[in-house]
Amino acid sequence: MKTRGWCPDLYTPMAAGDGVLVRVKPEVAGVSAAQLRMLADAVESCGSGRVEITNRGNFQVRGLSGETVPAFAKAMLAAGLASADSAVERRRNILLHVPVEPEMLRIARALEAWVKADESLVALPGKFGFAVGGMGADINVLPGGVVLPGGYATAVEPVTAVQALTRAFLHLAGTDVTRMATLVAAVGAEAVFTEAGLPMQVVQLPDAVPQVGPMAGGFGLGVGFGQLDAAILRDGAGLAERFGDGWLRTTSARSLVVMGTGDNTDAIAIEAEAAGFIIAPDDVRLRIVACAGLPACPQGLVDARAVATRLVPHWAGTGVLHVSACSKGCAVPGGAAVTLVAEGKTYNVVLNGRARDVPAVAGLSLDETVQWMRERRLCQ
Ligand code: SF4
Repeated sequence: MKTRGWCPDLYTPMAAGDGVLVRVKPEVAGVSAAQLRMLADAVESCGSGRVEITNRGNFQVRGLSGETVPAFAKAMLAAGLASADSAVERRRNILLHVPVEPEMLRIARALEAWVKADESLVALPGKFGFAVGGMGADINVLPGGVVLPGGYATAVEPVTAVQALTRAFLHLAGTDVTRMATLVAAVGAEAVFTEAGLPMQVVQLPDAVPQVGPMAGGFGLGVGFGQLDAAILRDGAGLAERFGDGWLRTTSARSLVVMGTGDNTDAIAIEAEAAGFIIAPDDVRLRIVACAGLPACPQGLVDARAVATRLVPHWAGTGVLHVSACSKGCAVPGGAAVTLVAEGKTYNVVLNGRARDVPAVAGLSLDETVQWMRERRLCQ
């Protein structure tokens, strides 16, 4: 059943240009090497073998069919990568950011238990989610308090505050409001906190922490445009077993983090790079984002990843370059430093905005686009 603000998940597949896609949501505990191998086996036998990591840290599995989805779901249940209850699976949207602090892990576990058990949450939109240890979700838990998009925060005990803000959302949001940011824009943050019975303050949002390369407690493995295949999933599992504690985490930066690597940094870096992972946090490929585009997305006008690959040697901007195969801008809905939007056979360029915003220039070929950006020191 598709509900308001629906998102594809294991039990709610979505038709795409390259077959059916589903999403697999790791639990707060992370993904073990054995689970990653079971995922690799299943995407190979049931789908195209192609997997993406989403900016919510989920695995998006492509190229399934109506016939293979049930077998894939069965494999994910057997792997412990899904709930047997479709309603629980739909609302189980919790991302624990890395590096993981013990207190953040405790809170994430408590929230996961609550989300699984509280049936009143069935009314939450499928897109609604929680982040712990970082931002990026509808309700975010940081070490200093619970924060909504825009920096509206409370220092009340985190689990209590998250539950109260969720109830406030359910009470205030109309059927057409599926995200907390939309509700805040519509009624104001004060109304949301008042409904929740919580004091409110405005806080400075923290900078994002690099999620590739060595970090406290682990080593981040970047993947170009967040895209993997079964072989590199197995490589990641092997790295976790040889150099870490056998566990990995997915990140909002679409990377995989091998946990518990200790002093193994140099050795894992060599093997990870040889396997095809990105290991340098300043690698330009981590600052280029492309949507699914052709052939995977029927709305795409170009193969966005092929275009992005051509731009890798050129991109010299400090922020994110977003290649969008149509004006919907799925991959970076909040906007990027530069967004190339395919329109017919040409491109529009939006500066510091979203794909739908008014372009700074329109109707350029890809070569002309690079030249236009070169003149603005955005390309080399
Ligand atoms: S931006 Fe357009 S082409 Fe790209 S994934 Fe979204 S709908 Fe498809």
